[in-house]
Formats: sequence, structure tokens, C-alpha cells
Amino acid sequence: MRVVILGTATSYGVPVIGCRCATCTSTDVRNKRTRASAYVETDEGPHLLIDSGPEMRLQMLREGLSHVDAVLYTHLHADHTAGIDDLKAFNARLGGILPCFGDAPTGVALRERFAYAFAGTPWIGLIPHIGFTAVDAAPFFVGGTCVQPIPMRHGAIRSTGYRIGKFAYLTDTSGIPSASRELLRDLQVLVVDALRWEPHPTHFSVPEALALVDDLQPEHAYLTHVGHTLEHQTTNDKIGPRVEVAYDGLRLEL
Ligand SMILES: [Zn+2]
Ligand SMILES: [Zn+2]
Ligand SMILES: [Zn+2]
Repeated sequence: MRVVILGTATSYGVPVIGCRCATCTSTDVRNKRTRASAYVETDEGPHLLIDSGPEMRLQMLREGLSHVDAVLYTHLHADHTAGIDDLKAFNARLGGILPCFGDAPTGVALRERFAYAFAGTPWIGLIPHIGFTAVDAAPFFVGGTCVQPIPMRHGAIRSTGYRIGKFAYLTDTSGIPSASRELLRDLQVLVVDALRWEPHPTHFSVPEALALVDDLQPEHAYLTHVGHTLEHQTTNDKIGPRVEVAYDGLRLEL
């Protein structure tokens, strides 16, 4: 399977508008972060998009990606869903409804905010057509690919991580219940939320993410949903080499 990390920023994006800090003014392209998202192409064929943030269209164009068979939503926050209107490009390529998966509250929120995308009117190319399936902790199939949802805490709400084969993607989490941890053993690559060094009520800090890596022992781990207080190289110098800060456009082969 192949993975493309489409975006690695927290909700503000990096650079932050108006900020003159060392990360926001850096010329290192790895410090230019769009909102968190990933793309997975499995050996069985399906092309899976994890979240559709506000820069989804630009991320797909930047990476030369053109096909999505299904979208896996981690949760309902706008930095993970606001690109929904641009999903119509994949309806056009599929010639029908785009299957989307996520927990039940995410489905309710998407239907409220983007009711027109669920209207079921004949498709004439102007709007996306979403078919939403609510998932909990039970594995499900997209095409021939098994997807394992990972229930997580994200401040006062729940979020969903996803495991596909030996790859796991856990953005936007402040806690992973023990039952979910058991679904995360024997990983080749773990991508996990780490907003900043200091604790935060709704996200893992770098020390919390490193503690998870220590517990799960994946072969390699990457930090995502990264804020501007984490400059790429100086952070890597402290946490590497087994754990690194992810960057937009990072490609992984598993
Ligand atoms: Zn987020
Ligand atoms: Zn900054
Ligand atoms: Zn969030």
C-alpha cells in the first residue's frame, strides 16, 4: 500500500496568518503545513481519502492525485470537513454517490452543515453526492480493503482513528482507551497527533505522542496536526530518528 500525507497542520494552518515566528517565516518547505489529511492507496485497489479539509482540492492537485473511492472522516471539526464541496470531482469520476464513513455524530453534523450534499437529487455535476455510513469500533470493508476504526477521545467529543493493514492514522486525539490500543499492535507506521510540547485539553502534546509510541512500539512514527511552535528540524533533532514530524507530501510505501 502507498500513503501520501496530504496535510500536517493544526486548524490554523502553518504559517499562521500574521505570525512572524521562526516556523511561520521559515524557508524550509517542511514548515509549510496545510490542514491534516492523508491519502491511502491499498493493494486491493480502493483509494481512500482521510478527511476533506479546507485545502483538499489544492492537496490533491499538488500531489497529482485524481481518484477517491471513499472518504474516512475522523470527526466533525471544520478543519477536517470544510472541503466537502470539492468532493464533487470524485462523484464525477465515480459516476455516482461517494461513500463516506465516520462516527454517528459526524454524520449528523455533516447532514446539518452540508444538507445539499445529501439531498439525493439527480446528479448534474454542480454539487457533491455523499452516502454516509456510521461506523463504531467494528471493522468494515471498502472494496476488498479492511478498515479498522479506532475510537478515541478528543477533548469533550470522540474522534475516530483508522488502521489499514500495518498503517494507523490517529489525528485529533487527547486519549486512546485501552480497548483501542489493543487494535494498534504490530504497526509498521503510526501517524499520531502532536500539537505542541505543552499539554492541551483536546490534543496530544509531543511527550504524550512519544509515550504512545513507546507503548505501541511501531517500526516508525510520524507526528501530525502540528502547530507553529514545532519547527520541523529542531523538533526532529529532539525526537528522532524513530519518530519524526510528518510534512506535507510525505510518501510512504508499506
Ligand atoms: Zn483538527
Ligand atoms: Zn508562527
Ligand atoms: Zn478536531
